[in-house]
Amino acid sequence: MLDQRVADLARLKFHEYYQNNDVLIDQIEKREFGFGDFETKIRRRHMAFRNNDAFKRYLLLDVPPFISISTAYYRNPDGRPMENKGWLGSELVFDLDATDLNLNCQKEHGRNWICENCLSAIKNEALKTIEEFLIPDFGISKNNIEINFSGNRGYHIHVKDRDFFSLNSNARKQISDYLNGKDLDIRVLFPTIGERLKALKGPTPTDGGWGGRIARTTISAINGGNEQLVKLGIDGKTARKLIKNKAEVIMGITTGNWDSINVPKKADFWGNIINTMTVSQTSAIDKNVTNSPEHLIRVANTIHADTGLVAKKLKSISDLEKFDPMKDAIIFKNGRMRINVSNANKLYMNDMEFGPYNNIVVEVPTYVALYLMLKRCAVLA
Ligand SMILES: [Zn+2]
Repeated sequence: MLDQRVADLARLKFHEYYQNNDVLIDQIEKREFGFGDFETKIRRRHMAFRNNDAFKRYLLLDVPPFISISTAYYRNPDGRPMENKGWLGSELVFDLDATDLNLNCQKEHGRNWICENCLSAIKNEALKTIEEFLIPDFGISKNNIEINFSGNRGYHIHVKDRDFFSLNSNARKQISDYLNGKDLDIRVLFPTIGERLKALKGPTPTDGGWGGRIARTTISAINGGNEQLVKLGIDGKTARKLIKNKAEVIMGITTGNWDSINVPKKADFWGNIINTMTVSQTSAIDKNVTNSPEHLIRVANTIHADTGLVAKKLKSISDLEKFDPMKDAIIFKNGRMRINVSNANKLYMNDMEFGPYNNIVVEVPTYVALYLMLKRCAVLA
């Protein structure tokens, strides 16, 4: 449970934010809302608002710590049960969360904490989803892609292209499996694989979908040198050989001749290559974001109550490239607070370094105090 004094203070600050900032929602009258408290992200759902003014009035009256919205559009968004809502279609949404990446740093700092490495890795996943899959493979225009920071440790990518709105959950699952490289049949891409006396034929860089992606990634790894090849699971000796004959190997791949990459442990090799290219989406419960048209997801530009950061809507892909959540998603920039920190790793916020702290009373900027208290690492001193 969040400490009561911390909860009261946080609500006061959240109220101040919602008073000074408008959270505007497109077609708000067709959306279902869910609200949560500090312990449960969605405590009540099936709520609806006639317009943005009514929504704002509710935010100021109730100051819910977590605010979620349906990825779906409905005729009667407050109808119950679900069948009575009159489903009109759903955005296709990808939920990318750093904890799904199984990074080495997470073994050190635990799943509740998030470090710069986690944040940069998940940003790369988001860029990969958009630039490697949604735009080239699905033909989605970048104007129809909305990117939001989740407010904690990930990104939500919304596809606003109406061609995707009517997809059922099975079709959504197929899209998510495609991004995850699930059920990818390597023998379709490399027809002669495993046939010992035949030359290895494979995809060329200009092929569409996974084939072209594998060819392009392999070429860029060969150009990138030894370290990048080893990262793909190629042993040092083979890597050196590939680099030595670089021009010839690349020319081969460009024409679909992969014989020079006839590595001994083929299954491991291709498994590794594909793994570096797939998108790791939120597993377990949140996987439903992509697959279920009925899912609720954080409203852009509302506060994440586990961090006090704003789930900021990013204007463009280049905005995402430059985005630093621990700076650009800070909202409570005024004032300082004295807090009693039980235990916290080193923290970088607003280009400054804080901690590590261990059973100590410190005076820090409000945004750092709220961040540590909402992460349950500190209380008011
Ligand atoms: Zn980390």
